Amino acid sequence: MEKIITRFPPSPTGYLHVGGARTALFNWLYARHTKGKFVLRIEDTDVQRSTKESVDAIFEALEWLGIEWDDGPYFQSDRFSIYEEYIQKLLDSGHAYYCSCSPERLEEMRKQAMAAGGKPKYDGTCREKKLSKGENTVVRFKAPLAGTTVIEDIIKGNIVFQNSELDDFIIARGDGTPTYNFVVVVDDITMGINTVIRGDDHVNNTPKQILLYKALGSALPAFGHVPMVLGSDRTRLSKRHGAMSVTAYRDMGYLSDALINYLVRLGWSYGDQEFFTRDELIEKFTLENIGKSAGVFDQEKLLALNADHIKTTPPKKLIPHLLPFLKENGIENQDDDYLEGIINTLNIRSKTLKEMADAAMFYFRDTILYDEKAAKKFLKPAVLEPLELLIGQIESLDVFDEKGLEDAFKEVMERTGLKLGKIAQPVRVALTGGTVSPGIFEIIEVLGKERSLARLKSAAQFIRDKK
Ligand code: GLU
Repeated sequence: MEKIITRFPPSPTGYLHVGGARTALFNWLYARHTKGKFVLRIEDTDVQRSTKESVDAIFEALEWLGIEWDDGPYFQSDRFSIYEEYIQKLLDSGHAYYCSCSPERLEEMRKQAMAAGGKPKYDGTCREKKLSKGENTVVRFKAPLAGTTVIEDIIKGNIVFQNSELDDFIIARGDGTPTYNFVVVVDDITMGINTVIRGDDHVNNTPKQILLYKALGSALPAFGHVPMVLGSDRTRLSKRHGAMSVTAYRDMGYLSDALINYLVRLGWSYGDQEFFTRDELIEKFTLENIGKSAGVFDQEKLLALNADHIKTTPPKKLIPHLLPFLKENGIENQDDDYLEGIINTLNIRSKTLKEMADAAMFYFRDTILYDEKAAKKFLKPAVLEPLELLIGQIESLDVFDEKGLEDAFKEVMERTGLKLGKIAQPVRVALTGGTVSPGIFEIIEVLGKERSLARLKSAAQFIRDKK
């Protein structure tokens, strides 16, 4: 079978948002699934709106998502000589012509058409004039006047356009610069693209592009137009719905694996499976399972999926992802084993990495600051005796492990007649400063003997000082 070659061609006029990222993902996954090739092309012919910052932001977002391209990045702004060559080809073969109609005349024509309730369409004045290039002449494509153009869409089925609805659109402006639909086709042809998956906001461009392929004698790629992503009110997704740039999700503490999983599911399905690892997506992604209806972006679902990915990623692998958030909290240069242990206690209760970093702070403090209410309620004189007993028990442990700790607590319970619940909460406050945390046995194990003892002793001293 022919090798599948897909592409992602963002226009660098802003950040990479979640909708664009989903399109990139579909193309990338399909290329990976088929062991094909994925091309990155920056569509920066709109010089006014394209910026270097956007280009960099797109690269940064793709890299974070782990969407690696095999070819490119190509920049359309570097390819004007290729476009010129193809414009000439169409002129030479009689598929395009120079047009000298003035903007004023065209505007007049447009107004008349609108007034008559019709679609503005070039009237073909210069179509058969065989004009040569002149000052401000544009190049128009000579579109067929009758018949139909059909998109055999992989996702939507056949979409039929009447050629009479299409007009002789401009492929090169008066200053010689090529127009959008034309450069897309030239690029897709010269880059060998045979599969085009893109948002269905492009459906109306496709018949024009198909005509250009045919005029250039090139085979058509397979087209698939993916329904747009909608916001919760079922209007097109925008910032208003909380949809942000891809990197904003990174900064909020999302794992790229979770965002990828969520975005792919928003428009693609595999039975009713919700959770996918990256490798599973590559293995299972096919175009047949892209849905016909629009996906609705749901922040809560994304958050829940992020929690699932945090839970199932081996703690050791989470370390590099957590580090930036710890750094933001002023925590650096920690031992990997310590971090792994910490993550192990927090991964089942953190929805984001940021939440995890915040919850982890007690592990790094030299002095525990007690939450006022918690201290009042749990660090009371009556706790002093069991606390001191516990300190003694732990100090005398030869082997500091789960079993040893359990025995230590049991001994305290037996000697004081207190239930574990009565001891656990004061110990929790002593170790963490608050009343919400992972289990105290887990914490003690992670903190280790020395740190745990220091904290328990501080709490005992705190109680004594208060007396
Ligand atoms: N540059 C276009 C966009 O960002 C994509 C064009 C295409 O996929 O053909 O929407």
